[in-house]
Amino acid sequence: MMSGIYRSPGSSKCLQILDLLSVLLVSESPGGTAAISIYRAASEHIEVWYSKGRPSTKAEKASVVNFIRSAVEATLVSRPETEHLLRIALDMCKYKVFARIYQARQLLLQLCLDGTYGIIPSASYADRDLRDAAKIELRGVLGEDELPPERSLERCLTLWFQDIILAVRPGVPFDIAANVEFYFQTVVRCYALLKLPRIDTMIESDLLEKLRKVSEYYTAVSFVHWEVQKLSPGGKAHLISSIREIPPSAPTTCFTPLDPLICLSNWAYYRGLTPPFPFHPSLPALPNQSHITECTHPEATLITKIISTHKSSPAALREIGASKASCWICQEFLAAARGLYPNISIRLLKERLRTAGSWKFPAGTPVELVRALTRRIEKAMGEVLEECDGANGVKGTVKRKFGGVEG
Ligand SMILES: [Zn+2]
Repeated sequence: MMSGIYRSPGSSKCLQILDLLSVLLVSESPGGTAAISIYRAASEHIEVWYSKGRPSTKAEKASVVNFIRSAVEATLVSRPETEHLLRIALDMCKYKVFARIYQARQLLLQLCLDGTYGIIPSASYADRDLRDAAKIELRGVLGEDELPPERSLERCLTLWFQDIILAVRPGVPFDIAANVEFYFQTVVRCYALLKLPRIDTMIESDLLEKLRKVSEYYTAVSFVHWEVQKLSPGGKAHLISSIREIPPSAPTTCFTPLDPLICLSNWAYYRGLTPPFPFHPSLPALPNQSHITECTHPEATLITKIISTHKSSPAALREIGASKASCWICQEFLAAARGLYPNISIRLLKERLRTAGSWKFPAGTPVELVRALTRRIEKAMGEVLEECDGANGVKGTVKRKFGGVEG
């Protein structure tokens, strides 16, 4: 199903930044998703739209506005100002920040068994010199208390990693307000570490990846701070007034089969086709039904909103950032929209596919787009069935087509 994989034309840093910014909107964990679209209607007129996998609460909407307003008011682009913004952002995303630090902690627990904590021993004089330089650089950012002269870089890192293991252990109640310094300090340390040249020669790559996820909050916050300060006072005021949540369509509760095999089986059955499945399709009662809540996916909600806004524009380019890899149906939805509205260019960075656990059309989706996506799905389902000759069993094919079973 290569048609579901889109390499955005000119895949850019801008989209990566938007993906990062969307992470700032995820206030829950696990399962929270968010998407964001930032549109520059004129050089000083920036609009921010965002959507989540569920309607935002009043407090969440207020936090987003408060964060942007604080970025606007922090007129001095300096480290203390950025760190002040970081504290606001961490409070907004505390559950997700905790989850990311916890994931790093779980890996550190394994890495501490041999005493290395994921720190690669230096193998040469060149390594030693590099680490000495790294320590001086870190000291410049984090201060001498964090990196006393008598302590080696490896020793400092070991102590930091031990802090993480001890601070977020199970059974310790998660309370960011009571531990705000720990969360703040951990994000700042990770950010400073990830900026070091050749850090990949000092820390194992798996651990580095987990620390990078923690550091993303700092990266996103400093980007917002920097970009907002480039605007004129009028531009800043416009930005604050333009922040809008595009809510997902009202959730409904319905029965949805979660297993792609069952989904395919039902689809075939209702069309009078008999798939050569290894189990008996005892329909119309759906086997293994689950009660799940359906909400429009954030990317799809924004795509529909963008189409309704720009349908008559001569040309519009809008980019969408998403906190998670987009699912197969959202990517097909975007492809269908591109085919129907060539004047609107919508870009979405994520290329890794996920299977949609549930998917519904956002309210207000134009009927021609509903038809276009339906045709695409029908075609894809038909292709899967065609390949199901029963010889190798259907499972591998379906799994391949649907990109694995992931919510
Ligand atoms: Zn989706």
